[in-house]
Amino acid sequence: MSELNAQLSFLEEKFDFYLDELINLSKIPSVSAPDFPPEKVEESAEYVAKLMKECGLENVEILRIPDCHPYVYADWIRNPNAPTVLLYAHHDVQPPLREEIWKTKPFEPTVIDGRLYGRGTADDKAGILIHISSVAAYLKTIGELPVNVKVIIEGEEEIGSTHLAEFLDIYAEKLKSDVIVLTDLANFDTGIPSLTTSLRGLGVIELELSVLESPLHSGLWSGPIPDVNMAMSKVIAELTDSEGRINIPEIYEMIKPTPSELLKDFDKLPLNEEIFKKQSRMVEGTGFIGGKGKHLLEKLWRMPSLVVSAVVSGGKKISGNVIMDSCWAKIGIRTVPNMDTGKTLELLKKKIESSIPWGVKAEFRVANGGNPWVTEIDHKAFELAKNALSKGYDKEAVFIGCGASIPFVKPFSDAFGKVPALLVGVEDPYTNAHSENESLDLIDFKKSIRSQIYLFDELKKLND
Ligand SMILES: [Zn+2]
Repeated sequence: MSELNAQLSFLEEKFDFYLDELINLSKIPSVSAPDFPPEKVEESAEYVAKLMKECGLENVEILRIPDCHPYVYADWIRNPNAPTVLLYAHHDVQPPLREEIWKTKPFEPTVIDGRLYGRGTADDKAGILIHISSVAAYLKTIGELPVNVKVIIEGEEEIGSTHLAEFLDIYAEKLKSDVIVLTDLANFDTGIPSLTTSLRGLGVIELELSVLESPLHSGLWSGPIPDVNMAMSKVIAELTDSEGRINIPEIYEMIKPTPSELLKDFDKLPLNEEIFKKQSRMVEGTGFIGGKGKHLLEKLWRMPSLVVSAVVSGGKKISGNVIMDSCWAKIGIRTVPNMDTGKTLELLKKKIESSIPWGVKAEFRVANGGNPWVTEIDHKAFELAKNALSKGYDKEAVFIGCGASIPFVKPFSDAFGKVPALLVGVEDPYTNAHSENESLDLIDFKKSIRSQIYLFDELKKLND
């Protein structure tokens, strides 16, 4: 441990400098979603490239494929006998959503009570700065890293990494590594370092129902004409049972029971219904769904879930007494190990089609956001990573699941010959990623950088 003194002291001295760089990077509104200016995603790619050059990384390059926001690449490859580590993060961010709900301006990062508020501060610009500063801690002190490093910073993660397959076709060989470190995840709680070993997959159906060419006066016309919003309500109501379980038995037939050792591990994690309600900010009195007797973490990480994220027809301010012409809904389903997202989407579409009443016209847009991912933890990389995290946080690291989806993980791990993927990150339950008032705990940010300094030192033993 003592041989890392120079690197750890570097972090103590330079932490504020890298925090400032995180603030600079988070000022760039690099929203990748359509209708936001792509020049800003370009600007953040350039800023990342600058940071890479300054920290001592080499061969810095902005990688482009047609119609896709830019990736940024750099490496430091000096020792053919040492393992090569691929470091991943993304520089694009979610839209800020409702600006009036933000306590601070989303793109003016501000520190309040030890947390940095701003869009992208945690997801995932902190990930970028963890990579940059931990590399700098070696290259700016002892002048070398104990492992070879490749860094890839993606520009379209928040819109589902739609060009990943094309990107992989062109660049898989360039990125080939012995282990992937993906810094875009959450810790189980503030101060509890965590390694994520499963991710859910995602499928989305956009459904548009229509009954009229344009809205009609409900006094003059209602009675014989179907109400499109009632039709949509009937469709949605059919999707779950009284316990909020998905009303499609074939979906549950795909899933294997959660291993009992895993359920025992869930029990050891510091969570109960009360803590969960506080973290999620559930409204007083709201109950739980998803089946009785199931562990909360099993519902989050190992069971599929269905969410209607938007239903649009008319609007609060323009709701006259009319029969509406059409209604649009976005229905998302999270898939878990052993489920195929494509097959799940077919089943969901079939279910919807079978419950549309009154001959109402339906149009579908189906998007497969990727399959679930799960890893065994018997590879040595996991033990080394656990050591590094436990030292960096001064707290025993835990293995957890994650209910979200990261398309990058499976195709890249597979392309490199099923190399281990270490999924870490600095978000916590209070981060509010993708929502308003996203924030980053600054103590955990520093601990994450410390962990990665230890991680490089641990991973040099990967091939021993
Ligand atoms: Zn992210």
